[in-house]
Amino acid sequence: MAAALRDLYEVLGVGKTAGGDEIKKAYRKLARKYHPDANPNDPKAEERFKEVSTAYETLSDPEKRRLYDAGPTRFFGQGAAGFDPRGFQGAQGLGDFADLFGNLFGGAFGRRGREAQAQAQQGRDIAVSVTLSFADAMRGVTTKVSVPKTVQCATCGGSGAAPGTVPTTCPVCQGRGVTTQNQGFFSLSQPCPRCGGNGTVVESPCPTCGGSGVTQALKKYTVPLPAGVKDGTKIRLKGKGEAGLRGGPPGDLYVVTRVEESPIFDRRGNDLVIDVPVTITEAALGATVAVPTPDGKVALKIPAGIQSGRLLRIPGRGSPKLGDTGKGDLLARIHVVVPAGLTEDEKVLLKKFQNMHVEDPREGIPGWSA
Ligand SMILES: [Zn+2]
Ligand SMILES: [Zn+2]
Repeated sequence: MAAALRDLYEVLGVGKTAGGDEIKKAYRKLARKYHPDANPNDPKAEERFKEVSTAYETLSDPEKRRLYDAGPTRFFGQGAAGFDPRGFQGAQGLGDFADLFGNLFGGAFGRRGREAQAQAQQGRDIAVSVTLSFADAMRGVTTKVSVPKTVQCATCGGSGAAPGTVPTTCPVCQGRGVTTQNQGFFSLSQPCPRCGGNGTVVESPCPTCGGSGVTQALKKYTVPLPAGVKDGTKIRLKGKGEAGLRGGPPGDLYVVTRVEESPIFDRRGNDLVIDVPVTITEAALGATVAVPTPDGKVALKIPAGIQSGRLLRIPGRGSPKLGDTGKGDLLARIHVVVPAGLTEDEKVLLKKFQNMHVEDPREGIPGWSA
């Protein structure tokens, strides 16, 4: 579920302004290429086939396409960027799908493709991302996400039947959702023309959902993000994905955290690295400097004679450990700042020091001595 989601236009290989015919043509070409019947032992092809079908389902429907084009900002506001185009996959697409394939394969459908459709189907998982500041990632924060998704129709409770009526087993397929015919040595299945693959028929469809049992809704959730979340941490909200079909359980919602960079801290697992600039006298004589941590400053003792690049470990002052107690360490990386723009008096003083302190730092380094 975490895989990068491809742009739907890219999936079909068409431009953003492509017309309905162009989209249909591109879809047919790709669907023929990746259809499971044409690639019986290639799970990748089946993946591609599903991807292509989903893209077509959204882009061929003007309303879904409009919502998709409007993009995530419309739904998630500033900062957040996650949007799962699969969120639009509802129960309705099957009709178009059957139409197209009816033409493509002369009414033939692969067994694998459709037979399971008459059974209860789990709702899809959805992913949304939320962006939070580094400081919020360190202390934990509660955020709100808005998720456009299919939900069970409140009017009919998901049955698709008008209130006071119930769906009945399809008389044509006896609830299987497919009809099978023998053509030579092939046994070919196609979605039942009477029930469209549902296995049940609704004599009087629910006026709210038109018989699909689901409706589109924008749901808002309050999500506590624990202290220590990283860029890319996934938080699972079980059962908050898309509604299931035909009594199937709902999918899950994944909230993916995007953590902004800190201007001073570099994260290494649960440890944080910070650059600590010190003067040459602080480095030479030793000093105590106040160093920022995610929760306030701490006094750091710099030992006399420290060199640039040395790391001083401040235990327990790093990032909170996600799903654990305690914190990582803060690593203070010493950076000796050499003074520039000296006054004449200062130069005199330093020259005096130079004459007193005779030292060759290059002496004894292999490769340096002649
Ligand atoms: Zn049927
Ligand atoms: Zn309904």
